[in-house]
Amino acid sequence: MDRPVKRRSYPSIWRLILHPLLIIFLTVTTQVGGLLYSACLILGKMMSWSTRAWLMSYLVVHSLCAFVVIPQLAPAQGKVPLPVYSGDILKPANLWMVWSNRHYVTPELYLAVLEAGRQLKTTYPELRLVYLDASFPFGKRFPILPHRSHADGRALDLSFVYMKDGQVANKSRSWTGYGDYEEALPGYTSQAKVCKEAGFKQYSLTKIFGLVKRGSLRFDSDCTKDLIFALLNQPMTDKVFLEPHLSRRLGLRHTKLRFHGCHSVRHDDHIHWAVRS
Ligand SMILES: [Zn+2]
Repeated sequence: MDRPVKRRSYPSIWRLILHPLLIIFLTVTTQVGGLLYSACLILGKMMSWSTRAWLMSYLVVHSLCAFVVIPQLAPAQGKVPLPVYSGDILKPANLWMVWSNRHYVTPELYLAVLEAGRQLKTTYPELRLVYLDASFPFGKRFPILPHRSHADGRALDLSFVYMKDGQVANKSRSWTGYGDYEEALPGYTSQAKVCKEAGFKQYSLTKIFGLVKRGSLRFDSDCTKDLIFALLNQPMTDKVFLEPHLSRRLGLRHTKLRFHGCHSVRHDDHIHWAVRS
């Protein structure tokens, strides 16, 4: 008579590696995603759901939280979400940014960016400001990588203005809004080159975020200059970061227009705007 074969149960690779990695990744990129993923995973195990079922439940729960629940809770933490669909002044570069809860700012910054957008509308009626990363909804110290200074909701990245077929495109040139650089023209000093030669290898690291492009959009220097000027002239403005070759090319000089330093990353793919508390 054959003896029953004893099967040793090995912890699955999924349990050992992928779950913790996904929880860390979702926490770092969305703040609450790791928590929601863990909750759905535990619930799925308790209810004996299939992997597909609890993964689907996570996607539904996360989407509901990002688009419906968190925008209602964030004001208690001193943050408000930037408009996603409504209004003709602002729009996100992509919906992943909204799903990832990266579009929360202080109410003061919210009003200031609306005011800057309204001022620009008088000259550019078709323009909608395309926003990139702001901060997460909860807390003022939770880092939003790869940014060094966005955690408190008083900083917002905005896309340059681009044109397509002679019209304002109202889109960022790369899908993320980052990493598609407006390179220094001949005769202008390339800060990227200067920083690289000084040993700051990370300076152009954001190039990887610009790999997915949205067709050929042309940098609109006039409208971008007016946008930066509108931001600089908001009473609450603390500083605007822009690559030095672009400040020179656009003819912008202002005490609040600064170079961010070689320890940071390039700012010739977007505008970094910070306001006072
Ligand atoms: Zn920034």
